[in-house]
Amino acid sequence: MNKAESVTMCEHLARTGYEATSKLKEADLVILNTCVVRQTAEEKVLGTLGYIKGMKAANRNLRILVTGCFVGPTIEALRAQFAYVDLFFRPGDYSELSKWLQGHDGNKELAAKPSVQRAKPTAFVPIIQGCDNFCSYCIVPYRRGREKSRSADDIICEVRRLVTLGVKEITLLGQNVNSYGHDLPAQPTLSNLLAELSNIEGLARIRFLTNHPKDMSRDLIEAIGRLDKVCEHVTLPVQSGDSGILNAMRRDYTADQYRNLVWAIRDRVPGVAVSTDVIVGFPGETDEQFERTISLLEEIRFDVVHVASYSPRAGTFAAEKYDDDVTVEIKKERFSRLEAANERIAGEINAGFLGRTVEVLVEGVKGDKCYGRTRGDKLVFFGNGEDYAGKLLDVEITTTSPWALQGFIRRI
Ligand code: SF4
Repeated sequence: MNKAESVTMCEHLARTGYEATSKLKEADLVILNTCVVRQTAEEKVLGTLGYIKGMKAANRNLRILVTGCFVGPTIEALRAQFAYVDLFFRPGDYSELSKWLQGHDGNKELAAKPSVQRAKPTAFVPIIQGCDNFCSYCIVPYRRGREKSRSADDIICEVRRLVTLGVKEITLLGQNVNSYGHDLPAQPTLSNLLAELSNIEGLARIRFLTNHPKDMSRDLIEAIGRLDKVCEHVTLPVQSGDSGILNAMRRDYTADQYRNLVWAIRDRVPGVAVSTDVIVGFPGETDEQFERTISLLEEIRFDVVHVASYSPRAGTFAAEKYDDDVTVEIKKERFSRLEAANERIAGEINAGFLGRTVEVLVEGVKGDKCYGRTRGDKLVFFGNGEDYAGKLLDVEITTTSPWALQGFIRRI
């Protein structure tokens, strides 16, 4: 989400005549796009703000703007605390940014030129902001606020524009993407939106993340199976394989309900890649409960597992009500075990691609190899460095690892 919002902000700035620099010291304007999902991330924001404050003391013309999840609903308090910041604006609130830029309108000569052209064949498109779920460990609803969907017309218009700029694949984004639309007057669903976007000529692939298991409807599963452009790739965070821990996390499903959901998706979408997120060391997690997470992993065999160690986030229900009683050593050990299981399983799944030909959307060149992704989101390296960015190629797989595939072009 932050990456997508950074790209949009860059476009706003380019339209106002600003040029990007990779050197912080050369900047006239710095926008700090923050993440505070973990306490350490918030501390990093504070450290960076302190550093930029020093820069401003040396250069009075430097302007500092701050956005992202650091900017919660209490902007007044932030203004009082960080008086040297020129503007705080809520994540995705581009009208505030535009208003501010109009008052400091950069380089008018440059602004007369067309805005930045996207070179990449893939793009992120936020469709719903915020979250209504209040999982007990998570700060997001307090910072990003409640769910707010963009209108379908607005999204379709943006995707059409991206396609004219050469984008072939879009990833629809939301903290809780599959609850899209419930807050809009016509209450469109994500599956309605996927169907509409599928009609856009020139668009080859559609992905969406992240899904909440409790909001994964039959209708959506049916749409993934039915719509050709929607990739066979589902992100479905499970967080734990133990129903007691899931209850304490306020996830609103049991481990068995999750299992049944994955089997229903696999039944309707054969070959679908499923990725997940897991938190180890949640307050009170016993060895037995952790073993249930390992069992679930072995049973489901995810393509990718993102593992995080629990750390309390001030202001959340879990931080206020539960003791962070799993030791750092145990968290580390559980983390390593999950990573090892994930690596082994992903290696076995990827080995199944050996000798197969897969469709790859080429994203660019790294060193002497082209790289891109399959519909199931597998990273593939191939070719001799010739740049086929934006092309869909058939690649035969000759080497596999848990993290990537390698091969040669069968057909351009
Ligand atoms: S659904 Fe995701 S974003 Fe929303 S509260 Fe739970 S973990 Fe946080």
